[in-house]
Amino acid sequence: MSSSPPSPDRPAAKAAAGVVWFRDDLRLADNPALLAALANAERVACVYVFDTNPTVRPMGAASRWWLHHALAALDASLRKLSGELLICRGDAAALVPALVEKLDARVITWNRRYGQAEQAIDAALNARFLADGRQASSHNGALLYEPWQVKTQAGTPMRVFTPFWRAALASADPNPPQPAPKTIPFLALPADLPGRCTLADLKLLPTKPDWSGGMVAEWTPGETGAAKRLNLFLTGGIKGYAEDRNRPDKLSTSRLSPHLRFGEISPRQIWQATEMAQAEGVTPGSDYDVTKFLTEVGWREFSHHLLHQFPKLANENFQPRFDAFPWRSNDADLKAWQKGQTGYPIVDAGMRELWQTGWMHNRVRMIVASFLVKHLMIDWRQGEEWFWDTLVDADAANNSASWQWVAGSGADAAPYFRIFAPVLQGEKFDPNADYVRRYIPEIAKLPNKLIHKPWLATPVELAAAGVALGKTYPRPIVDHDFARKRALSAFTSLSA
Ligand code: FAD
Repeated sequence: MSSSPPSPDRPAAKAAAGVVWFRDDLRLADNPALLAALANAERVACVYVFDTNPTVRPMGAASRWWLHHALAALDASLRKLSGELLICRGDAAALVPALVEKLDARVITWNRRYGQAEQAIDAALNARFLADGRQASSHNGALLYEPWQVKTQAGTPMRVFTPFWRAALASADPNPPQPAPKTIPFLALPADLPGRCTLADLKLLPTKPDWSGGMVAEWTPGETGAAKRLNLFLTGGIKGYAEDRNRPDKLSTSRLSPHLRFGEISPRQIWQATEMAQAEGVTPGSDYDVTKFLTEVGWREFSHHLLHQFPKLANENFQPRFDAFPWRSNDADLKAWQKGQTGYPIVDAGMRELWQTGWMHNRVRMIVASFLVKHLMIDWRQGEEWFWDTLVDADAANNSASWQWVAGSGADAAPYFRIFAPVLQGEKFDPNADYVRRYIPEIAKLPNKLIHKPWLATPVELAAAGVALGKTYPRPIVDHDFARKRALSAFTSLSA
């Protein structure tokens, strides 16, 4: 869909007006759609549409909180260049053409999305604009490698991460990022534009109650916040990443995921900044730390590759034999998990971190997800839905691919019989229980040797720590050995 470049000796005349349709790319730097619009139109309108198209999955509450601040930040950046972000609300499939017509834009650009519904909308719009004689172009603003770029030697899509990533890296170096434009000639916007509204009209922020205090304290959405987070990580946090990235008690990972989700930073920018920091010796991270970090960015690429190859990844088992899995339906257990009241401290700490900050450490995501699908035998889709609503980085590709990875139903998944023991996981990855104490103050006074398994404490030890098991903190909602056997027997009932 990309437009062909103008011939160097006879440059194509620029159109008078262009529209850049911002979606999951809320930044000015390394934004190919923005650069393409500037190259092909004299003046541009920068548009964000809060899409109410019924085929598009509505954003969860935590993502909406993030989106509000990300849009405010993008608008502020555009205002510094004497323009503004045009915010509209409505069904993008109908609204974008109406806007384009009203603005008489001959050029329309956007960066590609990879969900099935979003791709269908974009393809239909592209066809419509081209039929109207307009110049529509789509660009890669979200990935290092397009999902269709990496294939097996037989030309089929890759299903296993390691060969996927090896082939991706061998195919080409990621493109370098492009700088932000220094100026933008903005199109004058008429007052009566279809669907036009203010950011406040979108009502993205929680009220009554406002539960966003923990998020405000933790995050700075927007392009500047993303760049600062990357810089902080590359100049400090990356040291020991290869080992420590499994430690939720430490600030051991980049926390770039929500910034990546909303496109406030591109993977190309991360890639280049990381390689430069390594080449210039600015980063305290070892070569191994750097490789590990970039490989995690590779997992994000793989998830998008899978979503493109298997569009139903979000709600159907990648391995169809899991369709026969005897999932339990149990609201009480699901609620206990959601609220961080399972009686297993490492699980509860993770679920409370999620509730308070909109984010959870990757190791703990794996532990809580395993607990839901294996200890409680609750369908991974219910967990995916809760994460979708509560994560600030909720991402259709990463979330569903990761849930299916943990459940065992995914591509290149963890084997179902690998069942995390929550106590051992807690003791190994939160050895001083700093993480558990941060999120479960009611058991904070228990000594390290008991805090990951309070039910083994004697009445005297519990009393000394001020814990009344079953009252101030729950007993385990399911016994580990029993749950393990039950899950294994359910799994064995599936045909290979
Ligand atoms: P870092 O360790 O600093 O990694 C850098 C970047 O690499 C991340 O920002 C992320 O974009 C990518 N990345 C890291 N780990 C993974 C992974 N396992 N899979 C895919 N990409 C990865 N990530 C999301 O972005 N959105 C989700 O909705 C999401 N849901 C998840 C659900 C479950 C059940 C699990 C187990 C994992 C999920 N992840 C999701 C992946 C991972 O937990 C987060 O990307 C990571 O914790 C983000 O923290 P970070 O930015 O500090 O990561």
